[in-house]
Amino acid sequence: MVGAHKIGSLVFCPRCGTLLDLPKDGEVDVTCEQCGHVEPASSYENTEITTRSDPDAFPSALRQKRKTQTKLHESGDQGTLVNEKCPSCGALEAYSKEMQLRSADEGSTIFYTCVACKHGWRVNN
Ligand SMILES: [Zn+2]
Ligand SMILES: [Zn+2]
Repeated sequence: MVGAHKIGSLVFCPRCGTLLDLPKDGEVDVTCEQCGHVEPASSYENTEITTRSDPDAFPSALRQKRKTQTKLHESGDQGTLVNEKCPSCGALEAYSKEMQLRSADEGSTIFYTCVACKHGWRVNN
């Protein structure tokens, strides 16, 4: 998740760069007047505003929501679906991911994950 830019106690909109208003007491987010982006008030945590209440006072529902969004993003990175035979169960499709693990002149390693049984194996180029 892209956080807002912070300069001192100021928070700027991560989308259009507009200076955001301070959240009013009790509000859990701040809406950008320019583009409508909604920034969680927790972005103001650790800033130099001394009049705000303890950051831990924010509703736990907000933190929970942000965690879920991060998880969804990570699960979309399983690789490219290719036609490759699984040595374990014989399925003909697997997710492939190429990784440059060794030095460039030695080529790269492709990791496969079977779509059927989740068996993983690697092939060196
Ligand atoms: Zn904005
Ligand atoms: Zn398999």
